[in-house]
Amino acid sequence: MRVVLVSGGVISGIGKGIIASSAGLLLKTAGLKVTAIKIDPYLNVDAGTLGPLEHGECFVLADGGESDLDLGNYERYLGITLTRESNITTGKIYQSVIERERRGDYLGRTVQVVPHITDAVQEWITRVAKIPVDDSGEAPDVCIIELGGTIGDLESGPFVEALVQLRHRLAREPDSSFFNIHVSFVPLIHGEEKTKPTQHAIKQMRSAGMIPDLIACRCDSTLDDSTIRKIASSCQVDYEQVIGVHDMETIYQVPLLLHEQGLLQLLRRGLELDKLTLASENI
Ligand code: ADP
Repeated sequence: MRVVLVSGGVISGIGKGIIASSAGLLLKTAGLKVTAIKIDPYLNVDAGTLGPLEHGECFVLADGGESDLDLGNYERYLGITLTRESNITTGKIYQSVIERERRGDYLGRTVQVVPHITDAVQEWITRVAKIPVDDSGEAPDVCIIELGGTIGDLESGPFVEALVQLRHRLAREPDSSFFNIHVSFVPLIHGEEKTKPTQHAIKQMRSAGMIPDLIACRCDSTLDDSTIRKIASSCQVDYEQVIGVHDMETIYQVPLLLHEQGLLQLLRRGLELDKLTLASENI
């Protein structure tokens, strides 16, 4: 299983969904079959009961599943059809674990966040990542996972732990890899691009056991080269592992912006894609 995790730091609503969809589109243009999962760390079982003023309209999937708006982006960018299981919420995970507990599946044991909730998250991802999402009926090559909220939020803690465990497990499995895109925010204050929020966000994700393979910096306008160098050196990553994602006229220009900054090459290395037989030689 090959996984691209898109996580976020500093503030929410900075474009994780668009970056996740764009990364998926680049992989698709390289001939890969891509699926997507959105994790929403709230207790609602699905988005159908959320207020549209706070979260935006819920997106209704072909199977009737009521989900986060981002699943609509994935379907439009990637030309795929997702199911209600493509949207994981805390509510769904706890519901499944509590149903198992009532059935007696864990008889005699204490049911806990670690390992029962974290195992349930990994099982869910592993199962859904293999479900065909296009007319070919074939299992996808790569699963994009977007983790809602920001790293450090109390409520996303169990998902972060599950994803850290998943990365550790995949590192030992054949034909498996994991690539973490961390989306951060670089504010412009009195004309100066500030990197400190990103430095703190990366420190926080590392302390949770996560490893940034790419830092995508959302910003108002193109980032100065010196800002990119400063983020790379203070976050212990290479210069190539930091890219700027500034405000574009339309969100459909974001895939090209990422491509110009070498995202596909980074994904090829990080996901060990040359071990896959690709339909195209684009990468
Ligand atoms: P998140 O997933 O982090 O909550 P979204 O991907 O939903 O964020 O994006 C939040 C909003 O910002 C959306 O309205 C989206 O269209 C817009 N947006 C995201 N990236 C860009 C960009 N590079 N340029 C312009 N608008 C963007």
